[in-house]
Amino acid sequence: MSLSFSSSALVVLKKRYLKKDKNGRVIESPEKMLQRVADSVARADKDFDGTADIKALAAQFYDLMSKGWFIPNSPTLMNAGRRLGQLSACFVLPVEDSIESIFDSLKHTAMIHKSGGGTGFSFSRVRPANDKVLSTAGVSSGPISFMAVFDAATETVKQGGTRRGANMAILRVDHPDIEEFIACKDDPGFLQNFNISVGLTQEFMEALEKGGDYELVNPRTRNSVKTLNAPKIFDMIVNSAWQSGEPGIIFLDRINEANPTPALGEIEATNPCGEQPLLPYESCNLGSINLGKMAEGGTLDKNRLKAVIRTAVHFLDNVVEINKYPLKEIKEQTLATRKVGLGVMGFADLLIKLGVPYDSEEAVALAHDIMSLISEESKKASAQLGEARGNFPAYAGSIYDRPETPYMRNATTTTLAPTGSISIIANASSGIEPIFAVAYTRRVLDGEKLHEFHPLFEEMAKEQGFFTEDLAKNIALEGSIQEMTNIPKEVRRLFKTSHDISPDWHVRIQAAFQKYTDNAVSKTVNFPHTATREDVEKVFKLARETGCKGVTIYRDGSRDHQVLSVASRS
Ligand code: UDP
Repeated sequence: MSLSFSSSALVVLKKRYLKKDKNGRVIESPEKMLQRVADSVARADKDFDGTADIKALAAQFYDLMSKGWFIPNSPTLMNAGRRLGQLSACFVLPVEDSIESIFDSLKHTAMIHKSGGGTGFSFSRVRPANDKVLSTAGVSSGPISFMAVFDAATETVKQGGTRRGANMAILRVDHPDIEEFIACKDDPGFLQNFNISVGLTQEFMEALEKGGDYELVNPRTRNSVKTLNAPKIFDMIVNSAWQSGEPGIIFLDRINEANPTPALGEIEATNPCGEQPLLPYESCNLGSINLGKMAEGGTLDKNRLKAVIRTAVHFLDNVVEINKYPLKEIKEQTLATRKVGLGVMGFADLLIKLGVPYDSEEAVALAHDIMSLISEESKKASAQLGEARGNFPAYAGSIYDRPETPYMRNATTTTLAPTGSISIIANASSGIEPIFAVAYTRRVLDGEKLHEFHPLFEEMAKEQGFFTEDLAKNIALEGSIQEMTNIPKEVRRLFKTSHDISPDWHVRIQAAFQKYTDNAVSKTVNFPHTATREDVEKVFKLARETGCKGVTIYRDGSRDHQVLSVASRS
């Protein structure tokens, strides 16, 4: 059965994905868009094998996307087979401690945003505010002031009307301006085009455990300039996150333990939503398997899943091949490691189909099962491609440079993206998040309100005889069905939304997926408005204990504006 696009999917596609003529009229159907993408991505095979059956491969790619089984990241859908041809969602750019470097990166950021990509930066190398500027005998203005410049540029470029510019700023916890950084988004109007995360180091985590001090280092002189109390800084991070949802935290030590190419340097930053740690000038192509479509008759079809994984890795490697990179340095760095990020969406839909509650040991076990399979099969697929097409050029000195893994085409194969837009296109629950709502209110053009159910809930309500005309309206008003005793208990147990799931289960599911993911996991741990600072602190610590690479929290009602908020379907 092919993908039937929902009305929300059609709105999104028409607005931002489908080709338009010079008068702004849409001149491409969603099917034609998928055909365009399939054809252009399949064509890459010709580079390696003159006799490759491109038509058959394009049909295979088309089949996967049109069934809604696998969807690549938005820039691939928007730009493949078109003049722009920029297909990656994620970039990291270097910011060195000089005006030249900072403003080069600013220009490159504008170019990337224009093409639909998101950018991440570490500002840790920039000298602190009020430090010396030798050339002018003046004083420096510090990382946060430069972030404001990137923010203003982003606001102006607005990604050529297709995507809103998104940025990630990371500052190491041992940078002298860390206190100002932690609190910089307490003012909701400041840095609206940025997500921010504090880069926690192993030294800091050790000092935190002991309740002791750690040193701040000026990146220009590499001298220690001050000591701070680790628990005090941790409290500041917790307090700001509790207040505004930011900063998030990332564990730099853990990210670098998993760095597949340590010989190329340390990883200091991630893309805007945190799921993709990258070296400076690296970019990455993502794609997601829709798990909700991997179940048949109440069981997970592992053979189908395996087949989709293999074709998806082939697809993503071809994307690396045909991508038109916005900059020479980005092309070189990306082609050296050929990182791709295969992940999932529709995990919550799958759980409902299998009758498994999200907050249960069974769901955690399933997350382990699924992601270990994706990891294993995607590595096998990448190894086969490596044998046929050659290893990624930075293979020598990488973690794969050993006799057991003689071939590897891609330095990473797995990433769990938020799938904010492609999950709307595929009508799936986003990423590995719990369902967003059981019923939605949609405003149509003339202001009339329509009430719609989560499709699986509607099916169940009709089957089990508790469907009524008013039900959707009541649920949309209430937000949660957990207290609605007219709905059977087992159904309520299955249809818990992000807000109904307790924070520790959010973390445990994230950790289960992280265990088998080369890159990182995009996940927001939701808290009710009444949550305390101690609740937030517990989750940060749990994320560390359970092997996560970072964590982002959101307390209900604490922020009106998020850079990339959970897909709102109302
Ligand atoms: N991204 C971006 N602008 C957007 C949405 C996403 O730059 O408006 C980038 C960002 O790097 C993010 C990544 O795309 O981390 C993946 O986001 P998501 O999975 O939501 O993208 P989708 O493919 O669903 O559009």
